[in-house]
Amino acid sequence: MVNYSLSKLKNKANRPGPLLIAGPCSAETEDQVLLTAQGLQSLGQVDYFRAGVWKPRTRPNSFEGNGEIALPWLKRVQDEFNLPVMVEIASADHLERCLKYGIKAVWIGARTTVNPFTVQEIADALKGTDIPVLIKNPINPDLKLWIGAIERIAGAGVKEIAAIHRGFQSYDNTVYRYAPKWDIAIELMTEMPDLQVICDPSHITGKRSMIAETSQKAMDLGMHGLMIETHPDPDKAWSDASQQITPQRLTEIWSELRIRNHSSDDPVFSTELDRLRSMIDSIDEELLEGIAKRMRLIERVGNYKRDNNITIFQPQRLSEIRETRTNFGKKLKLEEEFIRKILKDLHDESIRFQTEILYSSKSAKQAE
Ligand code: PEP
Ligand code: MN
Repeated sequence: MVNYSLSKLKNKANRPGPLLIAGPCSAETEDQVLLTAQGLQSLGQVDYFRAGVWKPRTRPNSFEGNGEIALPWLKRVQDEFNLPVMVEIASADHLERCLKYGIKAVWIGARTTVNPFTVQEIADALKGTDIPVLIKNPINPDLKLWIGAIERIAGAGVKEIAAIHRGFQSYDNTVYRYAPKWDIAIELMTEMPDLQVICDPSHITGKRSMIAETSQKAMDLGMHGLMIETHPDPDKAWSDASQQITPQRLTEIWSELRIRNHSSDDPVFSTELDRLRSMIDSIDEELLEGIAKRMRLIERVGNYKRDNNITIFQPQRLSEIRETRTNFGKKLKLEEEFIRKILKDLHDESIRFQTEILYSSKSAKQAE
């Protein structure tokens, strides 16, 4: 049984609450690494120091990391500042080099998680080691691929595993660098309830100004930690400059963060929550009964259209449904976007069902 947690190392820091991973996007120079470590050590809350040594950059001729020469700098962070270090690996060779320098944990980056061959190679190289491994979501919004990577690493016998939610590539214009698509992270937390999921607001937002609110959102959802890029002089960073913050700013964000409990032992709270939830349970049953009744009517409509050789899709009917239901729902104080989504699902299901009816048996007229 895999222990999907980083609890062993978290306890070492002897601090309850979420895990904090901080450090520069890239290990640029020995001075920059040590200066960041100094700033973070004084915060006294950092569980892991992060730094990229091999940097996956979108285009060549940008800084692609210092490679192995940066590992002794990071070892100094571990030895002199008592901060365990975490490094991104993208191959079995990277893992071997990290192990050689005694690096305490590794993470698999978003561009590596997408490739099952590479993940499997790393998993094979991890066999027999006891290094914790964190797995970032793949760059594309594919939950199965993310879970697949976690399973491959778990399959190698790695005992301490966590996931990192760093957002997803999207062609839409959003305020984010990588769209968070919180629903995917929520689905992962539902499918693997014992897995710790760490949020990376730096890569999600791509901008300093949104790190605090995105970190808070992750905490509100019950995520188990944060990975935040930190640099002594963020504007001069060699990679991801606009999203890095100073250790000082991290201290402010961390102290203002509202941490919520996953559950409560208070019997009054539990009784009241149970009472409200059982009312919701009854309403859900009523909703489903209503939908089932609607489907029975759709069956009659489908049969009738088929027998009269009428198309399933009737654009004017859809427009009318959208308009009337949206107005009705708005009067009930429901969000327009939410109504739109429900109507879309209802309509899609209606089309699917009527299509099935169309081909289920010959119509009365065809049979004549
Ligand atoms: C990073 O953490 O600096 C990084 C490159 O991450 P990602 O794999 O999320 O792009
Ligand atoms: Mn980065």
